[in-house]
Amino acid sequence: MDWTYSPAPENAAIANLEPTYRPFIDGEFVDGGGEPLKTINPATEEVLAEVGTAAQEDVDRAVAAARRAHDEVWGRMPGAERAKYLFRIARIVAERSRELAVLETLDNGKPIRESRDVDVPTAAAHLFHHAGWADKLEYAGLGPAPKPVGVVGAVIPWNFPLLMAAWKVGPALACGNTIVLKPAETTPLTALVLAEIAAEAGLPPGVVNVLPGAGDVGAAVVGAAVDKVAFTGSTEVGVQIQRRLAGTGRRLTLELGGKAANIVYADAAIDQAVDGVVDGIFFNQGHVCCAGSRLLVQESIAEEFLELLHARVETLRVGDPLDKNTDVGAINSRAQLDRIVDLAAAGDEEGARRWTSSCPLPERGLFFPPTVFEGVEQTMRIAREEIFGPVLSVLTFRTPEEAVAKANNTPYGLSAGVWTEKGSKALWTAQRLRAGVVWANTFNRFDPASPFGGYRQSGFGREGGRAGLEAYLAV
Ligand code: NAP
Repeated sequence: MDWTYSPAPENAAIANLEPTYRPFIDGEFVDGGGEPLKTINPATEEVLAEVGTAAQEDVDRAVAAARRAHDEVWGRMPGAERAKYLFRIARIVAERSRELAVLETLDNGKPIRESRDVDVPTAAAHLFHHAGWADKLEYAGLGPAPKPVGVVGAVIPWNFPLLMAAWKVGPALACGNTIVLKPAETTPLTALVLAEIAAEAGLPPGVVNVLPGAGDVGAAVVGAAVDKVAFTGSTEVGVQIQRRLAGTGRRLTLELGGKAANIVYADAAIDQAVDGVVDGIFFNQGHVCCAGSRLLVQESIAEEFLELLHARVETLRVGDPLDKNTDVGAINSRAQLDRIVDLAAAGDEEGARRWTSSCPLPERGLFFPPTVFEGVEQTMRIAREEIFGPVLSVLTFRTPEEAVAKANNTPYGLSAGVWTEKGSKALWTAQRLRAGVVWANTFNRFDPASPFGGYRQSGFGREGGRAGLEAYLAV
């Protein structure tokens, strides 16, 4: 009997793709002074649209518009009024969710199942959550009369383009700040539709400005006369930004990379743990800062666990991101694919054993098969460096102390996971893991009420929940 699935492609026309997109400054889409860029569909490498980019004078104009909007309108508006705009934006995001999901999948390469069921609903949830805070800030425990910081310069990466935009816009606006947002060069489209939605919601001009462009535009936003910088991206660029802002008195939060350990004890519910480990690393092609990229499995069950893991990974379907059956989509850019290929080759050279799913890869587009490295040593590059791709490094341990020591043996500190049937063991382990977020018997769960962020080389500051408001308020 043939058990293959029939193709179930989502209709690309739902994205309402425009041939050209432009920067959004002071309430209008305008011609930017920068060199236009072409954004591609990584699943086909075909050009999706031409996008105008910002030059230095556009950054200055956007920051001046944001300053004016803050001083004259938004910063003075009662919280209950700001909330109405934010609720309206959140509602329109929810109403246009199908269009946004298809557009995100086309521009990013992630499976439609994820953009439809995770990215867009979570983005809307963040906006709704922060809309609810706008008139309650004096009860947030951050002082009796917290004030906005002013103008926020925000720079975001390509792995969750709309969600990261919502993580910045939601708290900034709820707290009375205005924002100048720079999306990633390879995924600018949904942030520009969010700008359109802000305009549709009647948001006063200058409150939200979106400036597409490459790293130089990000550097110009960070260097502009903004009061706070909110950066999500690589540790390397985060370090440059921190150096640049040191001594300026400007506020900064950094959400950077990670190399999370996912610890599986011998007493864990093994099938659930296998599924959790698979979701932890292969969700969004592994382009996740908090991905469980290091599996630490207790030695006594390692053989059985890896057998089950291989069988489960074999069932993952790699292919057309617009197909509703696809589990693993395209790698976002040629540069990222090259980096994954190089780091995997380093794993081979250093003596780890590579296991690859036998799934067929599409003939065109940027794809990498789900890969598991076994026999990994802590000194290997694949155990230390963030691969940001569908590659899992497997290490083993004998005792809980050894598991914790190995999990913490990383310069990062963003997330971790623990799988055990014993609540006390989960708590014992979580208390010792040096990571901003620890999931127990689950992984990659996000809730707007729950603060997210790291420490050490994963950055500082929190996003989400009450704790996340602190960065956007002068308290
Ligand atoms: P990236 O190269 O650091 O880029 C992030 C953003 O910064 C992009 O918009 C980028 O523009 C811009 N940029 C580049 N150089 C800059 C500079 N000198 N000054 C200011 N901005 C600059 O990171 P990425 O490769 O896009 O994203 C992957 C990284 O983000 C991973 O390390 C991942 O772990 C991290 N991440 C962290 C979190 C978190 O919450 N902790 C969440 C998601 C991702 P271009 O796009 O044009 O290069």
